[in-house]
Amino acid sequence: MAFTRPLRPIPDDNDTLRRRLAGAELPALLMTVAHLTGDTSVLRDELRAPGWLFAPQGGLTPVQQHEARRLALAALARWRDRGEPAAPPAPELLRAITTWAMGSDTGDLLPLLAEEIALPEDDPKAPGWTLDELRPDADFDVAVIGAGFSGLLAAHRLAQAGVPVVVYEKNPGVGGTWFENTYPGCRTDVASHLYNYSFAPRADWPDHFCRRETVLDYLRDFAKESGVADRIRFATEVTALRWDDTGRRWHLALRGPGGAGAATHRAVISAVGQLNRPLLPAVEGIGSFTGPAFHSAAWDHSVDLAAKRVAVVGTGASAFQLVPELAGTAAEVVVFQRNPPWLRPTPHYHEPMPESAEWLLTHLPYYAQWYRFWLFAPGLRGILDGWIVDHGHPPTERAVSALNERLRASLLAAMEAQLTDAPVLREAVVPRYPVGAKRVLRDDGTWLATLKRDDVRLVTAPVDRETPDGLVAGGEEFAVDAIVYATGFQASRFLTPMKVTGEHGLDLHEHWAGAPRAHLGISVPHFPNLFCLYGPNTNLVGQGGSIVYFSECATAYVLDAIRLLLARGADTVQVREDVHDAYNAWVDAASADRAWVWSRAGGWYTDGTRSATNWPFSAAEYWERTRHADPDDLLLG
Ligand code: NAP
Repeated sequence: MAFTRPLRPIPDDNDTLRRRLAGAELPALLMTVAHLTGDTSVLRDELRAPGWLFAPQGGLTPVQQHEARRLALAALARWRDRGEPAAPPAPELLRAITTWAMGSDTGDLLPLLAEEIALPEDDPKAPGWTLDELRPDADFDVAVIGAGFSGLLAAHRLAQAGVPVVVYEKNPGVGGTWFENTYPGCRTDVASHLYNYSFAPRADWPDHFCRRETVLDYLRDFAKESGVADRIRFATEVTALRWDDTGRRWHLALRGPGGAGAATHRAVISAVGQLNRPLLPAVEGIGSFTGPAFHSAAWDHSVDLAAKRVAVVGTGASAFQLVPELAGTAAEVVVFQRNPPWLRPTPHYHEPMPESAEWLLTHLPYYAQWYRFWLFAPGLRGILDGWIVDHGHPPTERAVSALNERLRASLLAAMEAQLTDAPVLREAVVPRYPVGAKRVLRDDGTWLATLKRDDVRLVTAPVDRETPDGLVAGGEEFAVDAIVYATGFQASRFLTPMKVTGEHGLDLHEHWAGAPRAHLGISVPHFPNLFCLYGPNTNLVGQGGSIVYFSECATAYVLDAIRLLLARGADTVQVREDVHDAYNAWVDAASADRAWVWSRAGGWYTDGTRSATNWPFSAAEYWERTRHADPDDLLLG
């Protein structure tokens, strides 16, 4: 991995070039060609992908693909022969290309899109200031809690700005959730080339959707190459944070290799994640099973599950990945399902990247940016609309709007095509809640094929209790040798189990009273100089970008708030209470009309009345709101 890679020249002879283009994602290639040549005639209507990413090549037919390759090769060869340099696209060209790709005018999105197409070395979200420039004598430093995707990023940005930073990480290594989740089959379900920092892309991701080990390697490499690794105190957990009203700094209680400790810092960034603390179900008798039982995020590798009868509780994203890995190794897998997942066709989900993909990413100027855009942009328009409740429809647990009904029909058709030989299974696996009420999982046929196996049994009765021998569901006892609880995380219990005490002794969790809220997911009134990443209402549900993108946006905002504090000679910054309250009223009102709050299906997106986790708007909306910290929204003291 490298932060930036000098591009290498494209070959002189057209046969070699043709071979190299074989592994191109054609919509991205056409956009690249239009950009480099300035000639948008290659962006033909008949070559526009019909749907976003439901299939590789945007679902273009072989004939369309052949034509796209032919056009691209001819135009690229002419561009190469003219010896023209590659430059960023002018706004009108950017608009024309992205409008073609997205199928509607992108005039309103141009500043965001220009950032997306920027070269990594331009890094538009990097802080454009340093502490030395603003206040060289400032007594200011920051503690970051957590060395996962968000924490490493925050530490890197602070280091870029010359702000002293220490990262406290409870684990002995970086990676956060990617460090902890070691269950078999663990991999991303966001495309690899999007699931990295915009300014530190990797050209050599081996798979379309990378395995956990590869993601972890990326984060380790990033920590090392950026120098952030030297700023991390590993195996050190922050157990409590207390704001000192007089000293105007945070006191941290630590638990580390040497026992209890303490530290003080001017500001704190919590980057502890939403999906960090495992959730075990509240079933009667839990703990009474005499065999091995563990959570998917705390996999016990000392237990050999080969030829064993294994119970897996849950059918969320974790179970969806691990059950197919156990099947065939275990003697029998008994899957306990409460709500089945909706499945989104992704035929290349387990496939390696095409052979020449890396070549294109390292040789063809701007191909990497357009490829990322192609992965990034689908949700910028349209997908959010599919989750919005239309009260006139009227909404039901089948569908919350006409568009939601159409989404349902297309996902259902793809599932039914796999279930023609399994009518009984069909009744069990078709969800009875609207699409979008829970996370939609990426499907290449593996899941339903696994459930059809003779050595896999699907139980749809609710788990009543755990016993010394196994699990009881629907009155029947299932005797097993091991139990895996793939039952998710305490997502809505933000910043737990830390005790966080703000101004005048205010306890954060008592203040929240079970309903965590923060301005932009970042700031809470009366908790000065405390910032959250991946905080309340920042989980993105398919509306463009990725959670890494959200962390980049939130971190840019935090750095800008710190800039204001330093530039104005202040000691503290916090959000105004009225701004925070108005913002959260806006979020809650929108959330009430999203499939995940409206539906009774439950799960980690909702507590039954509101959502503390999800962002109910588009990624573009979050980008817009986090571009700058507005001094009118803040109290500087
Ligand atoms: P999850 O989505 O919360 O799923 C938990 C599962 O356990 C659900 O099927 C739930 O059923 C079931 N469950 C909970 N309590 C139960 C009980 N008492 N009896 C029976 N079933 C019970 O958790 P997860 O699968 O670990 O995923 C959490 C999130 O992590 C995902 O949504 C995703 O954001 C992330 N993740 C991502 C990936 C990836 O592909 N990159 C992989 C894993 C996780 P109900 O649906 O009925 O509640």
